[in-house]
Amino acid sequence: MLEDWLTTEGQPAYRARQISDAVWRQNARTVEDLRTLPAPLRARLDESFRLDTIAQDEIQIADGGLTEKILHLLFDGALIESVLMHYPARGFVGPGRAIHRERHTLCISSQAGCAVGCPFCATGELGFGRDLETAEIVDQVRHAARRLAATGSRLTNIVFMGMGEPLLNLERVLEAVAILSDPRLFALGARHVVVSTSGVVPGIRRLTALGSQFTLAVSLHAARDPLRDVLVPLNRRWPVAEVVAAARDHARITGRRVSYEYVMISGVNDTDIDAAALATLLRGDLAHVNLIPMNPVAHTPWAASSPERVAQFAAMVRRGGVGVTVRANRGQDAGAACGQLAADRAGEPPAPAVARRRDEIVRQSEAALRGNRSSDGLPAGLEAAVRTGGAR
Ligand code: SAH
Ligand code: SF4
Repeated sequence: MLEDWLTTEGQPAYRARQISDAVWRQNARTVEDLRTLPAPLRARLDESFRLDTIAQDEIQIADGGLTEKILHLLFDGALIESVLMHYPARGFVGPGRAIHRERHTLCISSQAGCAVGCPFCATGELGFGRDLETAEIVDQVRHAARRLAATGSRLTNIVFMGMGEPLLNLERVLEAVAILSDPRLFALGARHVVVSTSGVVPGIRRLTALGSQFTLAVSLHAARDPLRDVLVPLNRRWPVAEVVAAARDHARITGRRVSYEYVMISGVNDTDIDAAALATLLRGDLAHVNLIPMNPVAHTPWAASSPERVAQFAAMVRRGGVGVTVRANRGQDAGAACGQLAADRAGEPPAPAVARRRDEIVRQSEAALRGNRSSDGLPAGLEAAVRTGGAR
């Protein structure tokens, strides 16, 4: 398309390559940055194209500079978030010693808001805004790459663990990953990309069929259906057994290990029974569990499990034969739970609404903890999102 435009402008074909290099290698943000082009062509480009879909950024620093939380304002007023996490190099080279190279991981959003509505998640509470365009997904990465380049560093990993359910915006997520892993464009190997899903089974099966090289992460949070119905409402459509069966097939066919995310919520999903159920569910699979203490969010009555409880739970799962890692929570001092910056911007909901929501969450989870499955179907908004997201 750019080539066609250049032809109608009477420009030589090599201009497309110059523009592509400036955009992808030098990370140009505006047409002004396309220094290799003659000024009249820059002016014409400026009239016809925009190199950036993000209107404004607001950055909050946490963890003594190791975490940067970015709120991006898009041109239609939508707010999304990305989080850049720096992991310094660890270890020394030497016999029998592992060296962990410096890593820079970016967590990006695939949608503005989310229709799934997990009650411990700030994004879920915001509700669904809209799908992001491919360029809006890619531009979060370009912004981070630009900041890193200023300090002589490069982005090493990308995780789709920001706002939104990537498998309900699958076409654009796939397009974005294709651009990011194209050696002529962003040139980050697909193996350095993690796509996290709350369990959209047709989406997982599609990824398997495509033979995608990126890592699949499944947000499990409970191994028992009654509880998962509440913690991840999508479970009422695709229950635990179906999600795990799809993930297992994915691991078998692609040979790639699946990660399971498990947010630890005190007194809700962290009991011995839950640990045993989790180990039984995943034993023998090409799988690994990440335990993440819940980040506090305003509207829920819940809190993170204590570090002791997390350690006990991890030990039980490990003894049960499943690999497990306890993840540190990054950026708590910058409201780092997914969607929190945007939620803060949306303003505090009135106190009675918060109280009603908390009561509802307690009622639902109490029934679930007694082992009763919710008879509710998907909420109407989620039903619509599943349909338009192309996952039936
Ligand atoms: N929608 C997708 C991807 C984005 S959410 C999914 O759910 O997998 C990315 C991760 O952040 C999920 O594992 C989610 O459970 C986790 N998360 C959401 N709210 C959190 C909170 N309050 N504390 C800790 N982790 C949270
Ligand atoms: Fe959506 Fe993921 Fe948050 Fe659940 S945890 S509401 S699926 S963004």
